[in-house]
Amino acid sequence: MESVLSLDDGRWSRPAEELCPQPTRDEREDTFQFVGLRQPSPPPILAQVQQEFTPIPPSKVADPRPGPAKPSEDGLPSSSSYQHVHVPVSLMQDFLRLARANTEKNLETCGVLAGLLKNRAFHITTLIVPKQESTSDSCQTLNEEEIFEVQDKLSLFPLGWIHTHPSQTCFMSSVDLHTHYSYQIMLPEAIAIVVAPTDESCPHGIFHLSDPSGVSVIRNCQQRGFHPHEEPSDGSPIYEHCSHVYMNSKLNFNVVDLR
Ligand SMILES: [Zn+2]
Ligand SMILES: [Zn+2]
Repeated sequence: MESVLSLDDGRWSRPAEELCPQPTRDEREDTFQFVGLRQPSPPPILAQVQQEFTPIPPSKVADPRPGPAKPSEDGLPSSSSYQHVHVPVSLMQDFLRLARANTEKNLETCGVLAGLLKNRAFHITTLIVPKQESTSDSCQTLNEEEIFEVQDKLSLFPLGWIHTHPSQTCFMSSVDLHTHYSYQIMLPEAIAIVVAPTDESCPHGIFHLSDPSGVSVIRNCQQRGFHPHEEPSDGSPIYEHCSHVYMNSKLNFNVVDLR
């Protein structure tokens, strides 16, 4: 059964970014507080030179909101540098259902998006929900080897991740940006989906780091926990709505719940 549309038959669903064109700012975003996250310590050499972080002048702090999806000259979503990523339309809703028990307790839930490369486009075919530990604004995966095992066994690419913001708006925190950096350097097409059920203006967003500006800011940032980032020198946003994502109504996916 062929469930995948070809790339040029004009029957695409709307690009993901059109679903939430103008996310609004919310004062609850990035609290710039350090929380007890289980982050790896930087290597000793970095720890020595980066003991004290130079404060960023307020005018240079990067906007915590995402930039718009990059348009392309021909009016179609820009696809020159990225392969498309097909996202099943029911993914966010189904993930929210899996997350409900946590969401009711104001705890985040995270999952890994894995899939296949087919007809020169990535397709999310599997949602892996790992063992995890979460708070209201963070989520840490545990037993990561179990995730790799599932991906290896099914020969899947890690295509990104999804997590809830049970009470915050739809945006990427500084911790989220660092988490996503690891995905995006593995696969430039990797996406980060944030599901924010209490954000009426934008209940979900599909983001990635701007490349090269955002990627370079995060690569050069040694801080952990919640912290402000300096705006990229070229004025572009650190992260943005993806323009290489399509919501595919014919794409089904499996859930592997390891919790
Ligand atoms: Zn988050
Ligand atoms: Zn940082």
